[in-house]
Amino acid sequence: MNRRFTLAVHGGAGALKDLSEERRQRFLLGIHQALKAGYEILYAGGSSIDAVQAAVIVLEDDETFNAGKGAVCASDGRHYLDASIMAGSVPSSADEDKTLRSGAVAGVQYIKNPIALARLVKDLSLHTLLTGQHADNFGREHQLEEVANSYFSTELRREQLALAKDRGIVSQDHDIKENRSDSKKGTVGAVACDSKGGLAAATSTGGRTNKHPGRIGDSAIIGAGTYAEDGVCAVSATGWGELFLEQSVTSQIACLIRDAGLSFQDAVKEVVLSRLPQNSGGVVAVNSNYEVLMPYNTGGMIRGSVDNNGTMQIGIHAELTTSVVTM
Ligand code: ASP
Repeated sequence: MNRRFTLAVHGGAGALKDLSEERRQRFLLGIHQALKAGYEILYAGGSSIDAVQAAVIVLEDDETFNAGKGAVCASDGRHYLDASIMAGSVPSSADEDKTLRSGAVAGVQYIKNPIALARLVKDLSLHTLLTGQHADNFGREHQLEEVANSYFSTELRREQLALAKDRGIVSQDHDIKENRSDSKKGTVGAVACDSKGGLAAATSTGGRTNKHPGRIGDSAIIGAGTYAEDGVCAVSATGWGELFLEQSVTSQIACLIRDAGLSFQDAVKEVVLSRLPQNSGGVVAVNSNYEVLMPYNTGGMIRGSVDNNGTMQIGIHAELTTSVVTM
């Protein structure tokens, strides 16, 4: 097969120290399954935006990750989910009013898959970002699957909230001081370049443990947690959302490539390894040449990539394990 494509996903960055073997395997399996879901779409000639959405849905449905089922708890014990998705090019559409490339939602409480809701905002609304009950209502009106807010809970997330409250902190997945060592679970995201060179990015999260209800992180914000522009790059971030918002991390990377003339590699490294503080997070990124980068400034990042030959590379720390997709 000579059709080229590439896909990369992440399941959060963090200290990720002292992981039990069981937890490690669960993370790796989740990444494997997400890559496989996206790979099948790209292999069949599908678009990068369908591939990143499919990969993120797998991770939202996997309670190991901090997105969808298994999302962290806010200070009131409830779950408020953020997600965003972006295509690299304006879709050709008969509807001239709706040619937006991106969709995002914040503070979602009832729609099972926030990334599907973000996609719906992109495709069917005249807006880029919907929040709170109005975002949920939009999904309801379009028959997206709804769940009780308690569906997103797990025992571990309730324990993490109790711990964060005890310590009076708002906990970040990647801060070792704030979490039990086996509870590192991350925000999820995916980026892809399809056989036509089209780029897309998607990100989904429960945010930060013990966050103030109403807090919105970078994962809901186009240009901060998610960005895609054909011919430039597609990037999905994970990390301390407030810092990633302040630095407009994903669009900053695109600007350095498009406007400052940095290479893809130099731009991604400059932002993640120099401009962001140490231990703040990481990104997965692809460009139109099917190159993939997955740098982080934390102890590790749960991540993986797959290319059109079915070669997968998956890992949490420096070393990546190579395998081949079986269909
Ligand atoms: N960036 C996410 C947020 O701050 C959290 C994470 O990536 O772990 O909401």
